[in-house]
Amino acid sequence: MRALTWHGKHDVRVDTVPDPEILNPRDAILKITSTAICGSDLHLYDGYIPTMKAGDILGHEFMGEVVETGPKSTLKKGQRVVVPFVIACGECYFCGKQQYSACDNSNPADNQDIAPNLWGAAPAGLFGYSHMTGGYPGGQAEYVRVPFSDVGPIVIPDGIEDEKVLFLSDILPTGWMAAENCDIEPGDTVAVWGCGPVGLFGIQSAFVLGAHRVIAIDHFPHRLELAKQMGAEVINFEQTDVYDALMTMTGGIGPDAVMDAVGLESHGLYLDNVVDQIKASTFLGTDRPHALRQAIMACRKGGRVSVPGVYGGFVDKFPFGAVMEKGLTLKTGQTHVQRCLPGLLQAILEEKLDTTFLISDRMSLEEAPKGYAKFKNEQNECTKVVLKPDWAKATA
Ligand SMILES: [Zn+2]
Ligand SMILES: [Zn+2]
Repeated sequence: MRALTWHGKHDVRVDTVPDPEILNPRDAILKITSTAICGSDLHLYDGYIPTMKAGDILGHEFMGEVVETGPKSTLKKGQRVVVPFVIACGECYFCGKQQYSACDNSNPADNQDIAPNLWGAAPAGLFGYSHMTGGYPGGQAEYVRVPFSDVGPIVIPDGIEDEKVLFLSDILPTGWMAAENCDIEPGDTVAVWGCGPVGLFGIQSAFVLGAHRVIAIDHFPHRLELAKQMGAEVINFEQTDVYDALMTMTGGIGPDAVMDAVGLESHGLYLDNVVDQIKASTFLGTDRPHALRQAIMACRKGGRVSVPGVYGGFVDKFPFGAVMEKGLTLKTGQTHVQRCLPGLLQAILEEKLDTTFLISDRMSLEEAPKGYAKFKNEQNECTKVVLKPDWAKATA
């Protein structure tokens, strides 16, 4: 089959690789109909996530048609399913608590690589996201093997096109859980750093969950415009001092909740950020957390800090004094996608949530390298790239 493979920093290629096979009775094989490039794929593309190997198949946002099932899969051939990017067994201590991204069985000990040393414990397996998370082949491919197919995938009713439901795989539940992690109360103001896909869905979800005001922070005019269309007030950090603006907008107390939807590759010419860039490029530090620092400093006393942005290692100059002295609550983590899916699918079917506005680029799988470069280099216009294997284009 054809698949998008990683070969090094800014080097991804569409190669011919062996077809996936059923390895476990609970597996299913999907023929991919749609798959997307994620902001967190850019962290792989930019070489920030360790333990990648040349030839790894990327992609953790995908859906498709079931073409093969193991004897213990509950799926049926011909069903259309969306697959959570988090792989979870459904039976362990953590899955029992619906903390699916902490699943203890989907990231086998001999596949965890440096994760226990770097993070204290290995997280769940993830599709297409390095050998710390299981080394599973991803779904930017013609076919993919889905482990624990009796737990994760959600069956899509006939007549709903792919683009309406594809983002259930990651960014919609991630934005939703980020808003849930803000513990929004009536009258609350929520500030969101980063108007990429997760930030925008976080804004949408914050309003659905009852936020009175949402303030969006970015520097790309088009992304700020999308945030505005959802009802957010906006701050362009290149034109305005963010901390001062937030204080002015909130009567001097700061937002009730803050969301860092930026993650480890924060932009901006701030002194701490410049030092982080030097450290990251010289391997003295692993993350560039400017947005997170600013969010913590701006959050009101007793407020909540939600971090859906991805961090990979050690954060330098983390203002923990502010967290403690202001009594902030910090909530983060890879998304427990499986827990969110039934409710979010229902919201899409009832047209309470629409995610199709985000798609700026549609390409064939063969054009995936172009898609990565565009998503990285043209972040203002290019808000989301959806890829389709060629047969999908032919039959769409
Ligand atoms: Zn993603
Ligand atoms: Zn589990």
